Amino acid sequence: MEAKLNELKQRLGEIADLNNAASVLSWDQLTHMPPGGAEARGRQLATLARIAQEKQTDEALGKLIDELLVETQSLPAGNVQRAMVRVAKIDFDRATRVPPEFVARIYQHIAQSYQVWAEARQKNDFSATQPYLEKTLDLSREYSAFFPEAEHVADPLIDQSDYGMKVSTVRPLFAELRSRLVPIIQAITSQPAADDSCLKQPIPADAQVAFGEKIIRKLGYDFERGRQDKSAHPFTTRFSINDVRITTRVREDDFSEAFFSTTHEAGHAMYEQGIDQALEGTNLASGTSAGVHESQSRLWENIVSRGKDFWIFAYPLLQEAFPAQFGNVSQDTFYRAINKVQRSLIRTDADEVTYNLHVMIRFDLEVGMLEGNLAVRHLPEAWNERYRSDLGILPPSDKDGCMQDVHWYGGTIGGAFQGYTLGNVLSALFYRQALKDRPGIPEEIRHGKFDGLHAWMQEHIYRHGRIFTTDELVMRCTGGALTIEPYIEYLKQKYGELYDL
Ligand code: ZN
Repeated sequence: MEAKLNELKQRLGEIADLNNAASVLSWDQLTHMPPGGAEARGRQLATLARIAQEKQTDEALGKLIDELLVETQSLPAGNVQRAMVRVAKIDFDRATRVPPEFVARIYQHIAQSYQVWAEARQKNDFSATQPYLEKTLDLSREYSAFFPEAEHVADPLIDQSDYGMKVSTVRPLFAELRSRLVPIIQAITSQPAADDSCLKQPIPADAQVAFGEKIIRKLGYDFERGRQDKSAHPFTTRFSINDVRITTRVREDDFSEAFFSTTHEAGHAMYEQGIDQALEGTNLASGTSAGVHESQSRLWENIVSRGKDFWIFAYPLLQEAFPAQFGNVSQDTFYRAINKVQRSLIRTDADEVTYNLHVMIRFDLEVGMLEGNLAVRHLPEAWNERYRSDLGILPPSDKDGCMQDVHWYGGTIGGAFQGYTLGNVLSALFYRQALKDRPGIPEEIRHGKFDGLHAWMQEHIYRHGRIFTTDELVMRCTGGALTIEPYIEYLKQKYGELYDL
């Protein structure tokens, strides 16, 4: 078994090296590459992807994994070797069930669809994208059919980002969340909106970046094993546990843009930096699911850095860094401004309370399309109807309606949205457990000390990488199943105080 495990490690290590090398090329493409490099870069990425795919679908690898599945069965749950084999099986199946001919076909279609959407969106022309979206829907169903054991047509698509999550678990969870959120949002938005003009004052970009970096260093982001650059859309990428990079986007007339994207991405990055060094180079050396990943970004962005305790420590630093902008703004005014809740049209601009409604609308509509209960041609009406009923607003155009997100136009339909809201729910669940175990955390945060919270996440979430699934991780650290209660409690407490509910 020892020799076979070594061979498995070596094979998986090569695949990881190829994928990580591709990530370096993609990172460069999105941060520093001159426009002239685009064509060669596309070719180089395709070559690396092809070689990685050949290695990932090698029959000898499949045989090795199947033998090891039997031989590692007697090892205890949570054993690294056993987890490595289990995850290798998932990745191998996913790579081999889907024929290369289909992969080529869907990539080509998505590239076209994306181009059409980018132009049509500017012109607010949904009808131009409709035939492409219809084909994407067919292809998404075709993808799903490669996994005939799935309970629901959307499950294999959800599995790609949130392994183990199913429509049958996500749908009731979201229905419950929606019914609890809508009255909270109604109560908040029936009051006058917070004044957030203090955030819209001009601040030089470099000074904003420097302030953000100073803060995330305190949170625990390790610049010896990472760096921050600028890009059109903020993202986190990893080439190794010891090289996890983030990017941000700065607006000189909106302080919240760069600052909260920096703490958000730092949350993703600290997860990756915190994976056990012993897992380096294996298939376990990354976050376990989109939902758990998002729980970490949301925890540091929303629960911590939009929290009252955090600004007791950080507001004097902010005033010192930007005296002209914040010197005469009270801490309370600032705190209300960064937690302004409003019914809005655009998901990516939404506050932490209404955000989930945007996600759940998309989830329901995509599941409806996959089930055949919603035709693509009726998507704009269905979208607008849900915005009216859930958020009480009607999108004035498809551009700011069902054409606003790239996901369906530049990818498959299904599986890309649920992780955002699962992340919010999980962030509160993990935080509540951290507070139970270390009740001094809020006091530490008020003094700018984040080691306690960081260490808890390290111990219970980060170090495990992909060893445990989302459900297993939740069960291990909270002793129970996934529940929305801590998240609802968190929102009620925070916003109840802010809005006197
Ligand atoms: Zn994120």
